Amino acid sequence: MSSIDRIIPRWASSWGQLTRSKALVRSQCRCCGIQQRVDASIQALRFGAGTSPVDQLDGCNVVGCHGRVYFLVARTYGRQWLTMLSRDELRAALASAAPAANAVSLDLVRLGRPRS
Ligand SMILES: [Zn+2]
Repeated sequence: MSSIDRIIPRWASSWGQLTRSKALVRSQCRCCGIQQRVDASIQALRFGAGTSPVDQLDGCNVVGCHGRVYFLVARTYGRQWLTMLSRDELRAALASAAPAANAVSLDLVRLGRPRS
């Protein structure tokens, strides 16, 4: 059993599995902290359905940022988000990464109320 088998549930073991299980996927940039929703089916087309999101880094899409993003997944709404990093050095690097930022944390939208 590899360390990935121990940590990562089957439904999150590949981009194809994430697509089939309709899991929620986010990216989070280590440099700017911005979280974005990720479509697992597009990632499956980009990287291959059998490719694991674990320890995979991708370029940040935020204008002006040249950081790298990692991925978080949740089985469904309200469930725990799992960080798709297993290598010790990648997990340790999160200690010095930017804090998570999104539309709510940046106060760009108000919870439960449409913007007026
Ligand atoms: Zn970024």
